[in-house]
Amino acid sequence: MALVAIVGRPNVGKSTLFNRLTEERRAIVDDQPGVTRDRLFGEVEWTGRTFDLVDTGGLVPRSAERFDAAIREQVVLTLGEADVILFVVDTLTGTTEPDQEVAKMLRRAEQPVIVVANKADTEGRKNDAAEFWGLGFDQMFPLSSVNGTGTGDFLDAVVAALPDEPERDESDDAPRIAFIGRPNVGKSSLANRLLGQTRSIVTEIAGTTRDSVDARVAWPSGGEDEEPREVVLVDTAGLRKKAKVKENVEFYSTLRTQRALQACDVAVLLVDAEQGLEGQDARVLREAAALRKGLVIVVNKWDLIEDKETNTARDMERGIREKMGLLDYVPVVFASAETGQRAGRVLDIALRVFDERRKRVPTARLNEVVEKAVQRQSPPSYRNNYVRIKYASQIRTEPPVFAFFANHPQGVKESYRRYLENQLRAAFGFEGVPLTLSFKQK
Ligand code: GDP
Ligand code: GDP
Repeated sequence: MALVAIVGRPNVGKSTLFNRLTEERRAIVDDQPGVTRDRLFGEVEWTGRTFDLVDTGGLVPRSAERFDAAIREQVVLTLGEADVILFVVDTLTGTTEPDQEVAKMLRRAEQPVIVVANKADTEGRKNDAAEFWGLGFDQMFPLSSVNGTGTGDFLDAVVAALPDEPERDESDDAPRIAFIGRPNVGKSSLANRLLGQTRSIVTEIAGTTRDSVDARVAWPSGGEDEEPREVVLVDTAGLRKKAKVKENVEFYSTLRTQRALQACDVAVLLVDAEQGLEGQDARVLREAAALRKGLVIVVNKWDLIEDKETNTARDMERGIREKMGLLDYVPVVFASAETGQRAGRVLDIALRVFDERRKRVPTARLNEVVEKAVQRQSPPSYRNNYVRIKYASQIRTEPPVFAFFANHPQGVKESYRRYLENQLRAAFGFEGVPLTLSFKQK
């Protein structure tokens, strides 16, 4: 999906603009319980096109000492990632020195730059905005992020500036696997090790995001008993090329993670064996689960753990599971990209999760299991009414969604939903696959 980035000095209204453009979408996405969204990224839909929007404002502290440097960095990083750049300026203040600085850098941009003359709340200020033509860009739109005037024409221009969507072959259903995780956990090393292990042809195809390249490999490469399958490793180029700018890469690695998650079927989260699972990892896992992607955790650099005993892996796995809370259905693999230990197994398991995510449970079998589960433990009553679950059906795959038809669907409590989910997992597996259980009126 195309990425549109908002840049500009502090206080011009970047985050207000971001909120205005993303607010409707966010209401929909946040509807799922347990979703934590980073307010710097959002999706915008306008006249049938959808794009990702990022507010880079967080990169520039409002009272930074190294203010100029911070803005410069914000722009440089954006030039590397965005498809369209929104350069926000302020009609209240007119052109300022930092605006000129930003303009100078953006005039070299390959991608379209649209000047947003914000805070044009009145006709008078809309006229004042004309001075921003002086910044030297082809497109300039006066608008008000606060009251919304002018945003329609502006969004038309943004959509017109988006690059054509790369054509996705609809019949291409090769599993798409993404390696994610904090910098230096070994994502590139693992990807390269796997690419090295595939003797069959590796083709590189344009990825779904700017400058990203996906690698298509056949897996497993050897072995006579198993037919190789085509697998797409998402954004392997992004993994191979090291970030040019060191500072603030965290912000952009978060962005990349977000986009790799969107583009994959199964997300493989790497953590460093010496550091274990950290808060940020747990957040990414929850995000991936909210997007209903298949999940695998790899504890990488296993070779660095000395004096391993029989229980070392088990204890660490237990620690990780405690931190993950409810995501205890996610498989954990201990591997080393360096020595190659269990590197291939990572991909094997990711493929197994992919197949599970695609699985369809026959309705008769499903209802047997649900009936038994309800007999064993019936739903708690709701406002003095018995809650009865009449029947269930898997209404979609990839990701799997189960519908339960009940007399009082709104009366099914979260704890009971979880009970049913656990019963489904015990009967049907779905290892590494987030399940959606939806309760409907019958
Ligand atoms: P950022 O630092 O660029 O992200 O700027 P903010 O979005 O935080 O906005 C800075 C200030 O400008 C806030 O007080 C906003 O309420 C105000 N502001 C933003 N957009 C508009 C607008 O369209 N009109 C007016 N009058 N004020 C705005
Ligand atoms: P990325 O930023 O997640 O792509 O991480 P890299 O693949 O660039 O790895 C970061 C560093 O960790 C490099 O110096 C690698 O050689 C090292 N590394 C990666 N995997 C392993 C591993 O399994 N064991 C050891 N000992 N080092 C590793």
